[in-house]
Amino acid sequence: MTMITNNLPTAELQRLDAAHHFHPFTDRAALAEKGARVILRGEGCWLTDSEGHRILDGMAGLWCVNIGYGRKELAEVAARQMQELPYYNTFFQTTHVPAIALAAKLAELAPGDLNHVFFAGSGSEANDTNIRLVRRYWQVKEQPEKRVIIARWNGYHGSTLGGGSLGGMKPIHAHGGKIDGIEHINQPYWWAEGGDMSEDEFGLARARELEDKILELGADKVAAFIGEAVQGAGGVIIPPKTYWPEIQRICKKYNVLLILDEVITGFGRTGNWFAAQTFDIKPDIITIAKGLSSGYAPVGGSILSDDVAEVVGSGGDFNHGYTYSGHPVAAAVALENLRILQDEQIIEHVQNVAHPYLAERWAKLAEHPLVGEARLVGLMGSLALVPNKTKGAKFASEEGTVGLRARERCFANDLIMRHVGDRMIISPPLTITPAEIDTLIERATKSLDECYAGLQKDGLLVAQQG
Ligand SMILES: *Cc1c(COP(=O)(O)O)cnc(C)c1O
Repeated sequence: MTMITNNLPTAELQRLDAAHHFHPFTDRAALAEKGARVILRGEGCWLTDSEGHRILDGMAGLWCVNIGYGRKELAEVAARQMQELPYYNTFFQTTHVPAIALAAKLAELAPGDLNHVFFAGSGSEANDTNIRLVRRYWQVKEQPEKRVIIARWNGYHGSTLGGGSLGGMKPIHAHGGKIDGIEHINQPYWWAEGGDMSEDEFGLARARELEDKILELGADKVAAFIGEAVQGAGGVIIPPKTYWPEIQRICKKYNVLLILDEVITGFGRTGNWFAAQTFDIKPDIITIAKGLSSGYAPVGGSILSDDVAEVVGSGGDFNHGYTYSGHPVAAAVALENLRILQDEQIIEHVQNVAHPYLAERWAKLAEHPLVGEARLVGLMGSLALVPNKTKGAKFASEEGTVGLRARERCFANDLIMRHVGDRMIISPPLTITPAEIDTLIERATKSLDECYAGLQKDGLLVAQQG
């Protein structure tokens, strides 16, 4: 077999990829026909593909490369740790320095009494851990029937069987099913689902669905509620400001643990270390991954309150863990990533420079004929594409048709912006500069213009009736 290197022609790399690499969340036949895009390297907010295109990464990979690509410090830390201790486990009353240091650092950064970290290899694994943790919590408290977890439709909590069950994505449930004891309520998506209600009223109404569900099931059956502070994969849906305080009140009233999934929103994405601070939420457990290592190493975890750690910890062995829980190389890389975020004041850059500048330019996109709303929190943004500038309006075409066309225009203009249905979303590296924000907006505007012209030409600027 020939050596597979960067120097092979793109077509040959694509052929080998199609023959042997089965991709996540991808239609295999469609990809084989088109050929995967081959990314060779990254630097800052920029990627280079095998055709030599320089692409502005408006998604920071999959919402994770918070400090940007190409930071040698992380490579050096990984190389050093691999030589010193590439692996050891944290089972059987054993530990090592990178796991200790990362846990202590996270306890320092996390708000309130979130002082204890259970490590996983990813966000999905961490949410699987959370299912066990909250059920075990109530077992130790001698309320073993308190085991149902309430989550939201169109939430995303990973794609293992546990994470996928917590998530509210029906296409994921359809492939392999759902575990028992998970219930879903509606999402706080005011623009599309709020009808004539004010945003504040709607936030309260959607939060009160949690109370209704608890009363329907019985509070003695409900272990926890889980939600993303801001739904990411669901389309960057920023909840009304009334939503989280009401959720918090209800959880407290009925003794329901609150799990805040901060896999995307953690580590500066919303302009604070955690969105718990941005939205003033006091969770019992925070799920972390993605920006924890800026994607340089696979690592995730659950940060637990003193109460959760004490209760679960008082029940003897907790029968759960991963071979790579607290992996020393991943932990060392994550720690270096946190050092860079802190020492280079990257979160302050989001607050004082990148967010205010992008907010101004992003809001202007709402004036585009194809855009119904433009939303942004920190450096997480969305645009709702609409046929006729009406709140909540949908295209007559199948949902996602227009979003996909817009995404393809972005890709053609060397900008990575994703679509979720007919919403366009961004989540760039937190280090993005004002000049790069200008480029992002220019390319996004050009792509929207081209998409709009294409829709006009093909007669697709038509709203769904009713
Ligand atoms: C990505 C994501 C996950 C899953 O993380 P993986 O590392 O892909 O397993 C969980 N929750 C949220 C909110 C996510 O965005």
